[in-house]
Amino acid sequence: MPAISVDFQWGVAKRGYEFAKSKGYPFAGIATPDSLVIRPRGDDFRPTRPLKADGLYLAFGKLDPDDKDAILAFANLHGLLGFWLGETEEERWQKPDYLDDWQRAIKSMKRMIELHVTGKLRGEALMRDRNSWFGRADIGLQIGEGQQHPSLRIRPSSLLSGIRIQFAQLVAGGAAIKACMKCGTWFEVGGRSRKRTDAEFCSTKCRNNFYNARR
Ligand SMILES: [Zn+2]
Repeated sequence: MPAISVDFQWGVAKRGYEFAKSKGYPFAGIATPDSLVIRPRGDDFRPTRPLKADGLYLAFGKLDPDDKDAILAFANLHGLLGFWLGETEEERWQKPDYLDDWQRAIKSMKRMIELHVTGKLRGEALMRDRNSWFGRADIGLQIGEGQQHPSLRIRPSSLLSGIRIQFAQLVAGGAAIKACMKCGTWFEVGGRSRKRTDAEFCSTKCRNNFYNARR
């Protein structure tokens, strides 16, 4: 199995993000002037490597699509999803996203995780999604220090592509996601995660609460 590395840098607005009416943004599509966009406050960005953190796709998939505060908090930490592909990196960080697009992307991530949790992420479900799902990425080769052979490198074009590729790597790597027996939250087992494949709880706290409640 050849090594694949995901090489992704993204920008987060130093002053955070805010909601605004889409009026004034010259985007085509189904949006009305009253549709909400998420936009950066100011044009000062700090570069981040959001995929260095494991499980960003899980944090994204756990968002409530109707909770605008939680969506804004996610943007403040990781930046926009990047639906509008600009010429330059800075343009991609800067162009506002529609809230609608975030909500659709969250629901789609939830659905994929649910399919994986219930063992149905195969066959027809995967075929149906394969054409539209991963977004764009540049593919190339890289050779690390002291490396004999180059490895395959994927550079996602947006945060959303990066999040989806992170999930795809997990699935392709054979790790599983389970729902906690106590609180129902999703957590990874096996693969790179530190949890045993037979773990049933997301945390020691949930495990203790579960058994205490049964006494
Ligand atoms: Zn739990």
